[in-house]
Amino acid sequence: MYNAVLHECRDYEYDKVKEIIKKSIDELGGIGKFVNKGERVLIKPNLIMMKAPDKAATTHPSVVRAVAELVAEAGGKTVIAESPGGPFNERMLKAIYSACGITDAAEKSGAELNYNTGTKDVSYPEGKLLKRITVIDELTKADKVINISKLKTHGMMRMTAAVKNLFGTIPGTMKAEYHLNRSNPDDFAEALIDICRYAKPVLNIVDAVVGMEENGPTGGSPRKIGALLTSTNPFALDIMCAYMINVPYTDVPVCVHAVERGLSPKSIDEINIIGDDISKFVITDFKAPKAILVNVTENLPKPVYKAVNNILQPYPVFNKDKCVGCGRCAENCPPSALKMKDKRPSFDKSKCIRCFCCQELCPAVAIDIKRPLFYRIFSSL
Ligand code: SF4
Ligand code: SF4
Repeated sequence: MYNAVLHECRDYEYDKVKEIIKKSIDELGGIGKFVNKGERVLIKPNLIMMKAPDKAATTHPSVVRAVAELVAEAGGKTVIAESPGGPFNERMLKAIYSACGITDAAEKSGAELNYNTGTKDVSYPEGKLLKRITVIDELTKADKVINISKLKTHGMMRMTAAVKNLFGTIPGTMKAEYHLNRSNPDDFAEALIDICRYAKPVLNIVDAVVGMEENGPTGGSPRKIGALLTSTNPFALDIMCAYMINVPYTDVPVCVHAVERGLSPKSIDEINIIGDDISKFVITDFKAPKAILVNVTENLPKPVYKAVNNILQPYPVFNKDKCVGCGRCAENCPPSALKMKDKRPSFDKSKCIRCFCCQELCPAVAIDIKRPLFYRIFSSL
């Protein structure tokens, strides 16, 4: 049986959040069970891009501050670290911490903000797909990792919560390489599971007080869910999250592969949920992302597979009026399907691997997803 805690939390009022987080961790044995005096604890929130907390794209600073304070009370030394998409440098980190309210959360809790942009290539023989992983240096220095994610929709992976959050330990633009080498959702899910297992978080918390629906993980709309979830098992939390946003786990590649590997329960019935009744938090009309891919078998010959994908799968479209010409989409497109021309992206659909990194990283929400006619026919069958 897997253990997890779920408590209602209707807003981000700090004292209330701290009380709920403390109670949740106590129900799993108390912070002292996970953090020893003098240990360096890496808190990994989701700080995907420069977005204010009320946009619901990033972990709320109240949750990060509460966990950092509890770690300090246990005698641990917290470092808050994230490697968002795009360049991994001090200037970018400073801007993201500030925009996401994390600078303030660190000041109030006494946590350190990570500005070490070093990377390390580590051997990981236990990995199913990844036998070597390049991660941010701080991950290798930490004694413990606490993973604090946000519940959101995700174009390529359907949903992002506990497991996918640890992809943010892969340094900045190197993420593109991981996408390019594992361009279908099943392989990418296996890679995400390997990364999560390598990071070995001792505690996982999902900020589902306000999640993101529709065009997540950055361009969607905030949606109140009203819960904080905690577990030592990130895979069980993802199963609970999928249930809460009314998505069968079989539609979430990370859940499917974690179940296949025997790491995850298949349903909430296999989880001992302490706290509130999860059924009270199910949102039956949680809006799905437009970018959900159609499952095309890879057993087809490669050129046929590529051609079928090209006419069937959704693809990004660029709103030239909203675009501010920053070039982030082109800089981070894994197969270079985008090039900047006259300060606007020019798109080569035949090269696109449908990772939707461009949409995820666009600061102007200038990228929408188009569903081709065949997609609409196929998905209504
Ligand atoms: S589409 Fe978005 S990411 Fe790309 S150049 Fe325009 S504003 Fe920047
Ligand atoms: S155009 Fe966008 S969706 Fe297509 S490969 Fe590039 S980043 Fe991914």
